[in-house]
Amino acid sequence: MIEFEIELVDRRKSAQEREAVLADPGFGLHFTEHMITIEWDKEQGWHDARLRPYGPLSLDPATKVFHYGQELFEGLKAYRQPDGTIVSFRPQANAARFNTSCDRMAMPRLPEETFLKSLELLCDADRDWVPTREGHSLYLRPFIIATETGMGVNYPSNKYMYCVIAAPSASYFSGAVKPVSVWLSRDYTRAAPGGTGFAKCGGNYAAAFVAQQEAVAKGCDQVVWLDAAEHRWVEEMGGMNLFFVYGSGPDARLVTPPTAGTILPGITRDSLLKLAPELGIPVSEEMISVEQWRDDVASGALTEVFACGTAAVITPVGRVKGEEGEFTISEAGGPVTMRLREELVGIQYGRRPDPYGWIT
Ligand code: PMP
Repeated sequence: MIEFEIELVDRRKSAQEREAVLADPGFGLHFTEHMITIEWDKEQGWHDARLRPYGPLSLDPATKVFHYGQELFEGLKAYRQPDGTIVSFRPQANAARFNTSCDRMAMPRLPEETFLKSLELLCDADRDWVPTREGHSLYLRPFIIATETGMGVNYPSNKYMYCVIAAPSASYFSGAVKPVSVWLSRDYTRAAPGGTGFAKCGGNYAAAFVAQQEAVAKGCDQVVWLDAAEHRWVEEMGGMNLFFVYGSGPDARLVTPPTAGTILPGITRDSLLKLAPELGIPVSEEMISVEQWRDDVASGALTEVFACGTAAVITPVGRVKGEEGEFTISEAGGPVTMRLREELVGIQYGRRPDPYGWIT
């Protein structure tokens, strides 16, 4: 395992300065006092691993990441437990997805133990920045960028930097759980077979902003991406996976689109695929079309829809709008949505037992 060199800040922020941020942190706006960096090159592999004071990076303007976007990232949270300790949720799954993304982007894999150690060191150094408030957490953002200087476009970079930064954060959608409205994007495509949809690379998000702007212009909160070929099959949202609840009470069951290369395999999604059946709610991975969504809401068969991801956990979807018109699923989070949310958040914040070994 690679050895980390530790360089702490000369002067820590005062408790008062910290509290000023923690009182109203927003999402991903304020960063802690340290960061992790590890370098990679062809000759040495991963080397020069450091925990160091948070601060700007100095890079040559010809650095490859600026031109060809060879970059990818992860996102997970550290949660304060009732006894004051700090845990993260399934960080091994983030390490695995990081490496799957690396393979797709022709970047070097980072050993899982190094990924986990980097998170642990940063959380430990900046433990006072892990919020204690209900629903708040420390958002961890590992990423890797191509750092070779030069414009050659016919081969991947031969130098990289892995970095982790951390931001104390409130929940992604501010305030109480309230349904989001969604825009069905027909003019734009997020991912096509053979593309990078399953990888968490920055380019996927850069290409999504224009559709998100369109969604907002149409009076919606978020985009729903459809398949590339027909713009008919539901895939996912800008930063969350989708679940459909059929039936209610003891007959409720969940449906979510299969990931199949164009959808980001969310760790929250995967957790719900395991958690829901344990609660007596069967889950299947099935394709669902926009017409079926609309018709099943109209017939009453489809009772709830929710989005899930690390940032916003589980968020109900209320209104759905597209070129053909709009319909509403529900004005508030339904019982299945809210139950799953409570179970998952309960495990993350240490209020519920964790029989799955998800907490680290
Ligand atoms: N889809 C996309 C496009 C995302 O960016 C995210 C957030 N990582 C998700 C789904 C949800 O993934 P997770 O549950 O691992 O946060």
